[in-house]
Amino acid sequence: MALPPQPPGRRWRRLTFVVLCSLIAVLTLGAFAALLLVNQHARQLAHPDAHSELWQAYQVRAELERSLDTAQALLDGRADSDALATRIEVLVSLLVPLRTTQVFQHLAEPRPEVGETLGQLDRLSADWARRAPWGQPAAARTIAQEMQRQLPALLGPTHDLIVATHIALTNQLDEERQDLQHAFNLLAWVLAGLGLCCVLLTRQVIANSRRRQRLTQRLNELNHSLERRVEERTQELSERKALLRYILDTSPSDVALLNDHDGHAHYVSPGLLQRTGTDDERFNLARLFDDPDEESRFRLALDEFGQLNGWETRLAGNPPYWAVVWARRLDIDGQAASLVWSFDIQQRKTLEQELRLLASTDPLTGLQNRHAFVKRGVSLLKSAQRHQRRCSALMLDIDHFKRINDTYGHAFGDAVLKAVAGELSQGLREIDLLGRLGGEEFAAILPETAPEQALQVAERLRNAVQALSFSTEDNSRLRLTMSIGVAECLPGEVRLEDLLARADRALYRAKAGGRNRTEQAPG
Ligand code: GH3
Ligand code: MG
Ligand code: MG
Repeated sequence: MALPPQPPGRRWRRLTFVVLCSLIAVLTLGAFAALLLVNQHARQLAHPDAHSELWQAYQVRAELERSLDTAQALLDGRADSDALATRIEVLVSLLVPLRTTQVFQHLAEPRPEVGETLGQLDRLSADWARRAPWGQPAAARTIAQEMQRQLPALLGPTHDLIVATHIALTNQLDEERQDLQHAFNLLAWVLAGLGLCCVLLTRQVIANSRRRQRLTQRLNELNHSLERRVEERTQELSERKALLRYILDTSPSDVALLNDHDGHAHYVSPGLLQRTGTDDERFNLARLFDDPDEESRFRLALDEFGQLNGWETRLAGNPPYWAVVWARRLDIDGQAASLVWSFDIQQRKTLEQELRLLASTDPLTGLQNRHAFVKRGVSLLKSAQRHQRRCSALMLDIDHFKRINDTYGHAFGDAVLKAVAGELSQGLREIDLLGRLGGEEFAAILPETAPEQALQVAERLRNAVQALSFSTEDNSRLRLTMSIGVAECLPGEVRLEDLLARADRALYRAKAGGRNRTEQAPG
């Protein structure tokens, strides 16, 4: 995940912090180095053996004079050889530091005579030291004489040596003080920089701390406000949820929200649970449908279209019932789910069936009425023509029925009509179509039936009707007859009315021929 870009102020503060920390680190190292430098210069100045060249030079000058006095005393017999040897040793030891010192490098101009004087003294003293006259009076006298000859000439240059040493030493001390001053200045600047950086860093740390405090406070305020809003929202949501649940629970339609993966029910309305006789835990899609094939069709439709609208199907229940179903595919917590509404239309279905029955049935006889007979007859005829199967039609009419009505009344006539209808129904097969076209006139379509068989069926029916016997009000017996016209479906004859018209014409001939008989339409 890409981090959000930092605000410029924050970047700038971070950069300043890094720069200040780096500066402090560098300045701390610098301060340490400057301190070492100051220490080095201070130690140089404070060293007890340092800068003693001037004293040495004075001592050399004084020693030259003492040596001359001692030489004179030895020659006068006032001093012995050891006293002279001691002077020589002292002179040699005094010359050593002056010979090795670097102080003369600090002279403004080179003074070669200083080196020459020191060299001369060195050579002489070394020579006398080599011949040190310890306990040798004769040798001591010789050296004393040499001293008296050589040393007076060196007193003047030795004085110049003192002056040169003084100047050089003064210069050296000046330089060292200046170096110390510079080192100290450097240390002071570095410490000042370090202090400044520390102050700036402290200021930034304090500012950061205050900013953090402010931000923390703001964050806490925001957290509190967020918590408050979440609480309010949660409260609002739970109220809405309760309201939604109340609406769903009291809705006249049944609702179920089902997880498609495991079939678990997120919600099932109480009405649906009651109908299916289950509880939330056990409810699943399979329990909703009466027919497993319907469940498969439901799933297929949802998979294909993601929704289902106004689908009429039978749902499981005790007893199963017709319902119209709507469904939507949803996503709940990343899992597919189906929201299903169903509305019980069992009553409507029953009414529809009753209406359909009423619309298609003759109420008196229970046979198909003219409309239903024609409708089914057309499809039977089409099917026969399509499959090139034979089929026949019968037109049946009770003979002199008007007389029965007129003699025994209309109700009696109705009873006779019902009895005849029953007889005709029993005399036909399941696949045959029988209808009452009106009054005492019936018709039948006999699929898969050749004319000869149709003729046989017609005769059987006619005989069955003829065998009927009714007891009348005056306790006499009434019998009746029927005339029948038979017609075979002709190849290519697709209009039912043509077939029925031919059968009707055959019926007319039967009537005309004396009634109670069957006539066949010409092929
Ligand atoms: P035919 O032998 O020539 O067929 O003479 P018919 O009297 O049977 O025929 P007609 O058409 O003259 O008379 C039919 C009678 O059927 C007339 C009518 O009163 C009677 N009828 C028609 N519908 C009903 C009904 O639903 N109930 C009763 N009881 N009679 C009916
Ligand atoms: Mg009749
Ligand atoms: Mg009639």
